[in-house]
Amino acid sequence: MFDVIVLGGGPAGVSASLYCKRANKEVLIIYGEESGLVKAHKIDNYYGFENGISGESLYNAGIKQAQNLGIEVLKEEVIKIEIFNDFFKVTTNKSSFESKTVILALGTKKNTVKIQGVKELEGRGISYCAICDGFFYKNKDVVVIGNGNYAIAETNDLINIANKITILTNGKKAPEFRADNVDIVTKEIKEISGKNKVEEITFKDNSTLKTDGVFIANGTAGPVEFAKKLGLIIKDDKIVVDEEMKTNIRGIYACGDCTGGLLQVSKAVYEGAKAGLAVIDYLKVND
Ligand SMILES: Cc1cc2nc3c(=O)[nH]c(=O)nc-3n(C[C@H](O)[C@H](O)[C@H](O)COP(=O)(O)OP(=O)(O)OC[C@H]3O[C@@H](n4cnc5c(N)ncnc54)[C@H](O)[C@@H]3O)c2cc1C
Repeated sequence: MFDVIVLGGGPAGVSASLYCKRANKEVLIIYGEESGLVKAHKIDNYYGFENGISGESLYNAGIKQAQNLGIEVLKEEVIKIEIFNDFFKVTTNKSSFESKTVILALGTKKNTVKIQGVKELEGRGISYCAICDGFFYKNKDVVVIGNGNYAIAETNDLINIANKITILTNGKKAPEFRADNVDIVTKEIKEISGKNKVEEITFKDNSTLKTDGVFIANGTAGPVEFAKKLGLIIKDDKIVVDEEMKTNIRGIYACGDCTGGLLQVSKAVYEGAKAGLAVIDYLKVND
């Protein structure tokens, strides 16, 4: 059992992990592909680099720094976070891990798709969280849009609730996944439509599929999806935290871009430090 699992290997996650490790805590960082930082051509406004530094170099240096300090760092996709009585379980595409606390440092990624009708029907049959909204589709036919590990995790959460689930890969490769009440369609989607709520999917070849609901699980899950599933308070797609980076759930902290405000490296590093220190304090009392 880890003292803390840090989700995200950007400035916020690494900063949090450094403080925890230096206080002798057992720390695991799990990070995936996407960070805003690697897209930054040059960072000129962060302390200590006389000629600036590319976002990618800074990101990789952060991961290396954590590793050099003896922190376990895994490049895997997080697909599920669960709360048990006195611990948390984090599941990735490859394995699962348990911890006493969790720090969410997942950046700003939002799980969405550019398909006509999605914006208009959000909340009226279009959902981003199977575990939150699956209940409304008991014995109904639903679709899951996506083709990766996260789409399969969402499908698994619907399997015992919905009558039939169709995974729509929207032109992408079909996942290797089979279940009795699950179909996979790889055709590209043109539109999602319905009068007052979702009723039909139209594909680019003009064929159609009737459906009662659409679950969007495109690519990997980001902070908003995890926060919703955990029951964290979110405001304007950002995780709400207090001064110490505590969320509304005991033992779960959040820092960096996923808490909103100034979306900059300096703020992510600062909040990461605060989250790390808050975890150390929490473990002093609760360990
Ligand atoms: C083009 C661009 C230019 C920028 N320029 C600047 C600049 O000049 N100066 C500046 O200060 N800031 C700049 N920024 C902003 C800066 O990159 C962010 O503020 C900073 O990276 C936030 O750090 P973070 O740790 O909160 O999130 P991120 O760096 O985004 O890290 C998020 C982490 O979460 C991980 N993650 C997310 N979902 C999953 C999942 N499902 N499973 C596993 N891991 C997951 C990612 O892999 C990543 O490791 C720029 C951003 C962009 C996009």
